[in-house]
Parts: sequence; C-alpha cells; structure tokens
Amino acid sequence: MRRWDKIIRLIVTETGFSRKGGALACDGVALRAVAAAENTPLYVYSAAAISARYRAIADAFASYPHSIHYALKANSTLAIARLLRSLGAGADANSGGEIDVALRAGFIPTEIVFTGVGKTSAELAQAIDLGVMTINAESTGEIERIDALARARETRARVALRVNPDIDARSHPHISTGLKTNKFGVPIGAVVEICRQFAAAPGVEIVGLHIHVGSQITDLEPLRQASEAIVTLARQLRDAGVPIDHVDLGGGLGISYDGTPVPSARDYADALLPAVRGSGLKLVLEPGRNVIAPAGVLLSRVIDVKEQPGGRLFVILDAGMTELMRPMLYSAYHRIEHVDAVERPETVCDIVGPLCESSDTLGTDRPLARPEVGDLMAVRDTGAYGAVMASNYNRRLMPAEVLVDDGRWSVIRRRQTIDDLLALET
Ligand SMILES: *Cc1c(COP(=O)(O)O)cnc(C)c1O
Repeated sequence: MRRWDKIIRLIVTETGFSRKGGALACDGVALRAVAAAENTPLYVYSAAAISARYRAIADAFASYPHSIHYALKANSTLAIARLLRSLGAGADANSGGEIDVALRAGFIPTEIVFTGVGKTSAELAQAIDLGVMTINAESTGEIERIDALARARETRARVALRVNPDIDARSHPHISTGLKTNKFGVPIGAVVEICRQFAAAPGVEIVGLHIHVGSQITDLEPLRQASEAIVTLARQLRDAGVPIDHVDLGGGLGISYDGTPVPSARDYADALLPAVRGSGLKLVLEPGRNVIAPAGVLLSRVIDVKEQPGGRLFVILDAGMTELMRPMLYSAYHRIEHVDAVERPETVCDIVGPLCESSDTLGTDRPLARPEVGDLMAVRDTGAYGAVMASNYNRRLMPAEVLVDDGRWSVIRRRQTIDDLLALET
C-alpha cells in the first residue's frame, strides 16, 4: 500500500521547487510553513529532486561500466550523504574531515576516492590505513609521501594521477582548474615519465588517471577534449605495462542558475562516452553541483527596506555572505524570489545581507514585487556550495537544514546556538 502511495504521490506532485497556488513549495510542502516552524535563515532540500538528478546521471551512463562518487564538498550534511549512498553513489572526499563524514554516513572505504591539492601526511595515512578505493595524487612529491607511508605499513596504495590537461573549462576563473597556470595536477606531458619513475615503487600502484577541469561547466567541448586526452594517455600507459584500470573524469557539470538552457545529463554522457567506449577502462565520475544545487533553497526574511540617496532601494535580508558565499566569491547569480504570491508594483532593488561588508550583496538590480519587512524570500539553487561554505563571521549562528522527503520534512541539522559556538573557547 505504502509503496503505491509513494508512486502515486511522485506522479501527482512535482519534484523539487514549484509554485502551488502561487506560493513556492518543495515537493508539495509549503515553504512558508517550514519557515514558520524553523525560522530563517534556513536551508531546505528536496530528497525527490536529489534522487531524480542523481538517477539522471546514472541512467545516462548506464550503458558503460562506471561508478559515480558524489563530491561531498558540494554538500556533506550526513542525511544528504546517506541519501546519495542509498541511491548507489560512492563518495569523493576532499579532506580527512570529508572521509570521516563519508564513513559516518555509511560509505565503506572502497567506495571513497580521496582528492585534494594539499593532502597532509596525517590525511594520507588515514586514507592508506582505511584502504580507500584510490588516492588521486596531485604531484610527484605526494606520490613519494604515499609510497613512504604505505611502505611503512607494508601495504600498497592505489593511486590515480591527477592530470592537468591545460584545457580552459570556460567557466569562472575562480572555478577553472585545468589550465597549466592552475595549481592542480601534474602537466599532461610529464605523466609517462612519472609512471616510469614509480613503476617499481613498492608502496604505490598507479591504477588510474584523474582530471577535473573546473566547476559550473556549461560548454561540454572542454570536457570532451579532456576525456579524449586522458583516455588516449591511459591507453598508451596500459600498452606500456602500467596497470591503468580506470579514468576518473571528475565533476564539473554545471546547472542553470538563471534559467538559460544547459546541457542535460544525457548530453554530458554523449560528450564523454565516445572517448572511453571500447577502451576497457572503467569510468569514474565525481559530480557535486549538478546533483544537489537545484535541489536546495535558502529561505530568508526581509529585515529592512531602505531607499538610499541616488535612488537605490536596498532590501536587507537575514541571510548574507555567512549563509551563501557564491555571489561574493564568484560573482555568482542566484534567482531570488518571493515565497508567497504577493501582488505589489514591481521595483528594482538590491538584495543584501546584514553583514558589515559592502560585498555582502546577494543580487543587484533585481525586479521584484516591492518587498516589505517580514516577507519571506527564497534564494534558489543553493543546494551546492551553500551550507558547506557558511561561516560564523559577525558571530552569526549557522542556520538549520531541512530535508523534505515523501511529503514530510525533518530537520537534518539543527540551528547552531551561541553555546555551540562558544563551547570551543576558554
Ligand atoms: C569540486 C570537485 C568536484 C565536484 O565538482 P562539481 O563542479 O561540484 O561537480 C569533483 N572532483 C574534484 C576533484 C573536485 O575538486
């Protein structure tokens, strides 16, 4: 019975965020009610949207041997990590802390890939002791450290070499990582020599090549080029006797923040699969943003509205750069909307946070039905790189996080209290 209930509900309710009688809802649950109960600022996620987005990627690659390692850095709240695991994902951890979160969320070590441009010896030792699936190594120095640590433990670590293909991801400069001027990976021209250098190293086995050319990529051509380059190189290495068994094409697939069309999961697969098909290499993917960004909103209330000389209308929210850094860090655009259907004349306004920083601006020149104190606003597409980048600047307390699942909502992280915050201090 329950099962049919669920299926029927999935058919009749739209997944994710949509308007119901003019008001914004998450999987049919009114956001106004959630905000009234849990206060603002508040992050709200849709389990149905996360599942649908994950499945779209899994389905698009179903015709080829692959594994999908959800990039925890996009959003690693335990309930979200557990949900992704239940859908069949592995984990991509970027730090020792994310490895710990992955384990607590139930991932087993062989489902975890460990990436990151500066892994400490303690983090490497943790990954080696656990026996993670692969450590994606970023430099010869790092491979030497892995070798020494693994030898001391009389074990051999599985390593994939992160390759810098010198390809422009054509995304924002702060989230492009595949150019030779970026700090990431080893130059593509040096890979053969590095594999030769470590062929006889007892503590490491180079079993894969890894690339991640950037984030929020909406032009698939750089990803296609990068996958071709890395697969060609992997084939050469394998022919030369290096036991390469997989290529890890990283994450990076973008989403539409402003409503303009972007490539689908299927387009993404169509861009990557031709290069790997027939190679016999297993494909590893590390999507983050694409799975989770559109599945979350940040709810915030208007604290004040004021008109400054020169005619700028500032709408001051109870959320700002402490809850969402992307607009300040990358000049990122996020849609900002009234949660309730309000019928007032449209006004162009600047939506700002309450922090003592002029850069604390969530959106400029936004046409909105003139906001009033107390209005509930939704900042859209904040599921990725939202809560994980939050800070306590100005001694602000981290908001709660809510997950809507199957028509019900629950708090998956409670709001921080001042006692939580001060517990670490003398
Ligand atoms: C950040 C990152 C990802 C995830 O990137 P998205 O753009 O969120 O998909 C995957 N792999 C590595 C190595 C990363 O650094």
